[in-house]
Amino acid sequence: MKIAVIGTGYVGLVSGVCFAETGVNTICVDIQEEKVQQLKNGEVPIYEPTLDILLKRNIKEERIIFTTNLKEAVQQATIIFLALPTPESEDGSADLSYVLNMANELSQIITDYKIIVNKSTVPVGTAAKVQAIFDKKCTTKVDVVSNPEFLREGYAVEDFLKPDRIVIGSSSEQAITLMKKLYAPFVRQGNPVIIMDEKSAEMTKYAANSFLALKISFMNEMANLAEKVGADINDIRKGIGTDNRIGNRFLFPGIGYGGSCFPKDVKALQSISKEYDYDFKIVNAVIDVNQKQRELFFQRMQAKIDLQGKKIAIWGLAFKPNTDDIREAPALYLIDELLKYETKIHVYDPEAMENVAKKYSQKINFGGNMYEILENADALIIVTEWNTFRTPDFNKMKSLMKSPCIFDGRNLFELQDIEEEGFEYYSIGRKEIKND
Ligand code: NAD
Repeated sequence: MKIAVIGTGYVGLVSGVCFAETGVNTICVDIQEEKVQQLKNGEVPIYEPTLDILLKRNIKEERIIFTTNLKEAVQQATIIFLALPTPESEDGSADLSYVLNMANELSQIITDYKIIVNKSTVPVGTAAKVQAIFDKKCTTKVDVVSNPEFLREGYAVEDFLKPDRIVIGSSSEQAITLMKKLYAPFVRQGNPVIIMDEKSAEMTKYAANSFLALKISFMNEMANLAEKVGADINDIRKGIGTDNRIGNRFLFPGIGYGGSCFPKDVKALQSISKEYDYDFKIVNAVIDVNQKQRELFFQRMQAKIDLQGKKIAIWGLAFKPNTDDIREAPALYLIDELLKYETKIHVYDPEAMENVAKKYSQKINFGGNMYEILENADALIIVTEWNTFRTPDFNKMKSLMKSPCIFDGRNLFELQDIEEEGFEYYSIGRKEIKND
């Protein structure tokens, strides 16, 4: 079996490499020449644990190749995956131009039976739109399949190799049979391959991401209320998470969700609802709460210290740990706000500094390690819960900082520890520790 994957970003590259790992001959296509060259050399352009090992192995075994030549790739493959961007448009809807332009381009190339599998997150009805393009422009049969991807950045390889489920939206028996065969190595332990129609598959992805975002926004609101009534959100989280109807995941309050998926996908679901004249109240609230959460965090900082001209250190820039992805990262919001107060911003992140440097260049300072940036700092903000920040040397921190003050957007530390260490400490949904 030979497959092509178009787009070698977080989804496309991981998918391509993992399919190759099961013995499938895989051709990956991207328009970025530099990226393709890097990949040919076995270099992974993103940070994703273990991906480099698998990439090198599969290049060596000649199971995966990279090219910018779309035609060559498509002619050789029967199954063609689209892992193209679907960014947020100005009106909040998903921008489908990458997917639809590609469908038009492919329709000029295709001369025999192909299965076009859409892995990008797309609004309901997209598979039908893409199918219509092929039906109109191709003389040969083309089956369009919706196959949403659920991998998490930071655990992408693990998630792809051992998925909770595979969702396949198709009405073609031929396509379903081939898709099941392709995915069989990943579901040997019995995890389900769920077959449904294309529209339901497209909606499943939005439902999953919006539900997870809902859990986060719910916990953020609960944390805000817990603070007001003098309760501790950490205890509440444990108290409800042990109820297996609720489950203990995605219950951590914080500074709000970010990333390349949740913000745009929840907004896209809101936009789909509007299009179908449905007032999806919960989805509207999830978005509002998320925006408010980062604003509340900043407002608290403003209330506690006079930010003008101060030195502020930031631990963590990526939208979550184990990735270098900074799309919609809360850290960027905080940096933008702090810059309005002419603060001297010093940041450290184990993987995301290069991406942030492209955006801010000289405006902020990048540290060589997590302690270096604390020297003479008036406060530390913790934005990403990298493991490396979880058990710091508090004495070293105190000796370096001008004032031992922490604004923790991820609740990394136990209140008792931090109190004993003598820090002023503001976290989410817990009591404030002041050292006056
Ligand atoms: P990405 O921006 O990391 O990668 C997209 C790639 O497509 C880039 O390498 C780009 O150069 C390439 N590309 C653009 N136009 C092209 C063209 N005409 N021909 C060939 N290549 C082209 O995006 P991503 O994060 O991998 O996301 C892709 C899709 O998957 C999106 O719809 C996203 O919502 C969805 N998704 C993402 C994740 C995630 O965690 N990142 C998870 C599940 C689903």
